[in-house]
Amino acid sequence: MKNKGDHMLGMMQEWPLLCHKVIDHAAIYHGKREIVSRSVEGPFHRTDYAGIRERSLKLAQRLDRDGCRLGDRIATMAWNTWRHLETWYGVLGIGAVYHTLNPRLFPDQIAWIMNDAEDKMLFVDLTFIKLVEMIAPKVPSLERIVVLTDDAHMPETSLKNVVSYESYIAEADGDFAWAEFDERTAAGMCYTSGTTGDPKGVVYSHRSNVLHAMAAMQPDMLNLASRDRLMPVVPLFHANGWSTAFSGPMTGCAMIMPGAGMDGASIYEILTQEKVTITAAVPTVWLMLLQHMEKHGGKLPDLSRVVIGGSACPQAITKAFQDDYGVDVIHAWGMTEMSPLGTLCSIKPEYSHLEGQEKLDLQAKQGHPPFTVEMKITDDENIELPWDAKTFGRLKVRGPAVSSSYYKGRGAEQFDAEGWFDTGDVAHVDSYGYMQITDRAKDVIKSGGEWISSIEIENLAVGHPDVAEAAVIGVAHPKWDERPLLVIVAKEGRSPDKQSILDFLDGKIAKWWMPDDVIFIDEIPHTATGKIQKTTLRETLKDYQLPTG
Ligand code: ADP
Repeated sequence: MKNKGDHMLGMMQEWPLLCHKVIDHAAIYHGKREIVSRSVEGPFHRTDYAGIRERSLKLAQRLDRDGCRLGDRIATMAWNTWRHLETWYGVLGIGAVYHTLNPRLFPDQIAWIMNDAEDKMLFVDLTFIKLVEMIAPKVPSLERIVVLTDDAHMPETSLKNVVSYESYIAEADGDFAWAEFDERTAAGMCYTSGTTGDPKGVVYSHRSNVLHAMAAMQPDMLNLASRDRLMPVVPLFHANGWSTAFSGPMTGCAMIMPGAGMDGASIYEILTQEKVTITAAVPTVWLMLLQHMEKHGGKLPDLSRVVIGGSACPQAITKAFQDDYGVDVIHAWGMTEMSPLGTLCSIKPEYSHLEGQEKLDLQAKQGHPPFTVEMKITDDENIELPWDAKTFGRLKVRGPAVSSSYYKGRGAEQFDAEGWFDTGDVAHVDSYGYMQITDRAKDVIKSGGEWISSIEIENLAVGHPDVAEAAVIGVAHPKWDERPLLVIVAKEGRSPDKQSILDFLDGKIAKWWMPDDVIFIDEIPHTATGKIQKTTLRETLKDYQLPTG
């Protein structure tokens, strides 16, 4: 902003908030801190921040020599490994834009996204070569593909202009300086998974990434310290990797990268072997880990906290981690559009006396925001609603790491003139600023003019000992408009009946929230980011009719 008047300005340096300054800091002050990865080829790989920086510089130099320029989009389709981290910093260091691709999307969707972003290069893991063989011919902007491996592991492939990462960077000597530019320059791109309509591109800036990471590492947020050993299980391609690629190096903590090993056994192995102290992922990952430990036994002596977000964390998971394994759960809420962290459920002094079920109930809330996130709830007419822990409304946010628009101006209706972004979530807030998501705006069940939270019923239902997963959708009703239908996947070898589920819910929710019916299916459909796909579920059940009488 320009100084319009003649008032006194501060006399402090302009020091642009550039992402590559983060890896410089890590390499200088925490240079020997370990970065351990489960490589895609198999063995564990060990390096440190100094090593990451050295090779990122080589990559930057090589990209520069290849004609990559400020603002060019460079895609990655890769697991969390040291090479992926180096790729981000190499790309950032010349002012190009890392564009993470989610390999779990359909090939046509990925091609659409790459064409929308006009990706110039792609860095890809061995796992996804076959997928990329299908996609690359449909993306004319793609000039070169770099496979994140060495020459010895290069696969037979029909892809053109393909090279191994190790030989690609070997041609640079690392005698290179990072580029300097405006801190508002685009740094990264990530598309929302677009369960409805076309995916929308979110564009982070260097400034937003740096500010967001500073907010994320605070004591009431991730509480990161250089003594930590942080394992981001959440992939870098999911919602900006929850910022761990920046908050980790900024803190100087060790980083443990799980590679492609996302199953319960692999996660258990790396957590214990590498003495991870803090880790983060969506609930489904933790469900797999807990099931693995339930079956094979195991302890988590080094793990102090686990960050769970992306969808609501079922109480059963929080309870198991805390009571059975002595690991604190930090429930988190965020969105791709928020870089992504919005709120974390750490315990403020007002709640420090809570124990047992009361504490679990607090932890079912998504929590309170860090400095840099403003939030409010409104009704459909944009009138602000009270923070009384009951009244729910549309959740709106703003801040320096919240999107101001989508790429190419899509979704303009989600942004208002005062800079508030409508999250599409419905929530209530309590007087201490703890927010709780009660639904997605499009999933909330409108019964007789009142709203029923599908998520709240789902969370309770999965507490039933025979239930593996639960989803609640609204079904048309002649009198009430919509009524809740509870859809259940039973645990293996169990066969609960409708009455036992309803009995279990009885007394835990208002009578008029009680599902009109409970049905059992083999599998609930999920989105590419592991969330229940209600659109598909509604489609599958479109002929379903509520019992009458
Ligand atoms: P996508 O929409 O691409 O799946 P996002 O990660 O951006 O990916 O999704 C953000 C949405 O996920 C939020 O708007 C919210 O609906 C949901 N979400 C994230 N964390 C939580 C949480 N802890 N509890 C409930 N919902 C959550």
